[in-house]
Amino acid sequence: MITIVGAGLAGSLMAVYLAKKGYAVQIYERRPDMRINNWERGRSINLAISQRGIHALEQVNLWQDILKIAIPMRGRMIHDRQQNLTFQPYGIHEHEVIYSVSRSALNIALMNAAEQLGVSMHFNHRCINVEKHENHVNLYFWHEIENKEIIHTANTVIGADGAFSAIRQNTFKLERFTYSQTFLDWGYKELTIPAGENGSFQIEKNALHIWPRHDYMLIALPNTDGSFTCTLFLPFEGEISFENIATDDQINAFFEQNFPDAKALMPNLIQEYKANPVSTLVYIQCSPWYYKDKIALIGDACHAVVPFYGQGANASFEDCFVLQSIIDKYPNQWGRIFEEYHKARKINADAICQLALQNFVEMQSKVADKKFLLRKQIEQKLYEKHGKKFTPQYNLVTHTNIPYSEALRIGKLQDGFLQELANRINDISELDFDKIQIPQFE
Ligand SMILES: Cc1cc2nc3c(=O)[nH]c(=O)nc-3n(C[C@H](O)[C@H](O)[C@H](O)COP(=O)(O)OP(=O)(O)OC[C@H]3O[C@@H](n4cnc5c(N)ncnc54)[C@H](O)[C@@H]3O)c2cc1C
Repeated sequence: MITIVGAGLAGSLMAVYLAKKGYAVQIYERRPDMRINNWERGRSINLAISQRGIHALEQVNLWQDILKIAIPMRGRMIHDRQQNLTFQPYGIHEHEVIYSVSRSALNIALMNAAEQLGVSMHFNHRCINVEKHENHVNLYFWHEIENKEIIHTANTVIGADGAFSAIRQNTFKLERFTYSQTFLDWGYKELTIPAGENGSFQIEKNALHIWPRHDYMLIALPNTDGSFTCTLFLPFEGEISFENIATDDQINAFFEQNFPDAKALMPNLIQEYKANPVSTLVYIQCSPWYYKDKIALIGDACHAVVPFYGQGANASFEDCFVLQSIIDKYPNQWGRIFEEYHKARKINADAICQLALQNFVEMQSKVADKKFLLRKQIEQKLYEKHGKKFTPQYNLVTHTNIPYSEALRIGKLQDGFLQELANRINDISELDFDKIQIPQFE
């Protein structure tokens, strides 16, 4: 019997993988069953799913169903202050798209699949403590409805309980455990561009929209009902901040000045802005991710990242895929499985953490910077001309399964090369692409 704590994206997919291998699995989840009570409003209701997530879902035949409720986004649509639009494609091939998927629909599909395979689910069980013994682990839960403590004895535990994981906090209390938790000075708030007439999309449907404004930005992802979920990223404090944009007049003036085209499509802006919470942005790094042959962490519980590469869930799904493939290699040797899993994933989790922070700077300010756009044009052209010899870092991260650490390494090499080319010119027409020698990056 394997016990998973957390029925979020990682916990539910891991349960599916394990149940398919014939393991008896049970999941304990803090929240009520979201299939009955939809809890998700106000917390990033859609996600960008890309190759790594798709690959992990395909292995258990779930992607084709998810695809039916996903909207392909073929590139970024940049909205500048003058309300000009620039479309930056995500790639040059048909498959180089990312998909906007409802977080709760995805989670529900995974929970349904797990349950159909015989996984038993216990909702309203909040893990509050972990007690390690020689041959077993006692998990302490607080039953949120019955207001009582429940003790569950387990042999093998997978902690999939998110960024503020109780399994992580309680397992490693007295161990040599390296841990860091870093909050950004920015927070985020969700807003909506509702559907137009007859469920039509009021801005380009197949794009991830970005309004970059240096110190802050607005993004929007499409939903299947024609609406867009917008996320406003803003500093908590300072001249332009959540603290200082609070009254009706301040909200109106800020949006009028910075995002007039979006504001015109947000009839409920003031109500939503005031009603929706400001959430924090945190990244977490820790090591090790496992305790002997008893407990391992997956997903945000061991590597929460900032959301600017759209990879947190994708990386969590990739954890599940890697862990299950190691289980196949060493059946039931949990100590070995967890050690190998940690070795395989930690380096890549660190890489995506770094990449996501870099993309924060890129999305906020560089996408509006002329030299950066020139570099992007060169990068795109080199990709078109030289294909596999020059695959941009974004494409490596988003549209392939090569390890994140490799994408980080190759991207650094490409960066210097692109910078050098861009420094020489003012316009892309000045480069003769037939004469450019591409170094060996991979
Ligand atoms: C604003 C924002 C936008 C994002 N956009 C993207 C995106 O576009 N693409 C992408 O790939 N990723 C994105 N992410 C990241 C993604 O949401 C996470 O990486 C992903 O949800 C991690 O899955 P998880 O299962 O590890 O954690 P979670 O989804 O957080 O699930 C953890 C589960 O554990 C439960 N739980 C927590 N504590 C306990 C406890 N004590 N006892 C029992 N159960 C507990 C929770 O209720 C929850 O169900 C975004 C994140 C944010 C904040």
